[in-house]
Amino acid sequence: MSKVKKKVKVIKIDLDKCNGCRACEVICSAFHATPKYSNNNPARSRIRVIHDPLRDIYLPVYAGEYTAAECMGRDKYVIDGKEYSECDFCRASCPSRDVFKEPDSGLPLKCDMCEDDPAQEKPLCVQWCLNDALVYEETEVEEEEKKEVKQEDVEIGLESMIDKYGMQKVLETVARMTKKS
Ligand code: SF4
Ligand code: SF4
Repeated sequence: MSKVKKKVKVIKIDLDKCNGCRACEVICSAFHATPKYSNNNPARSRIRVIHDPLRDIYLPVYAGEYTAAECMGRDKYVIDGKEYSECDFCRASCPSRDVFKEPDSGLPLKCDMCEDDPAQEKPLCVQWCLNDALVYEETEVEEEEKKEVKQEDVEIGLESMIDKYGMQKVLETVARMTKKS
């Protein structure tokens, strides 16, 4: 199978440099407001800063994929003498936390690297972080090219299933799967 090159965009986070100013939350929520820049509300930001000033903890995390189920992650990490929970580092919009959810609708929020109109040279949270705690990086990775699914291949597959199990069984299975999704 042939390989294709894919651009991967990441924001590298340097915890030692973050002072919890939350400028990243402000600009992210303002950029994604409708209309743009009409308001800012950190609860709508796709980057959140977990902060605990008494323990000198400032941990920016940007939103990743939505997950429908809680995980079993309850571990604790001690880094430079500061204790973090596993959840602190998690980027998922998940049922057990209020972060990365649109406050009015509850819909999950996900970082889009500010790939919106107008296009940004760098993600806005990175541009607004005056302490350089957020650093934007682009790398190229090689991955296997996904094979295009041809309609005739699907039909051949279905015909063989029908031959083997019968039309009724195939239809019942599809109906059951459709209900689940
Ligand atoms: S803008 Fe930078 S320093 Fe301020 S909270 Fe966000 S990551 Fe931390
Ligand atoms: S890259 Fe853009 S969308 Fe993602 S967290 Fe930063 S400001 Fe928000």
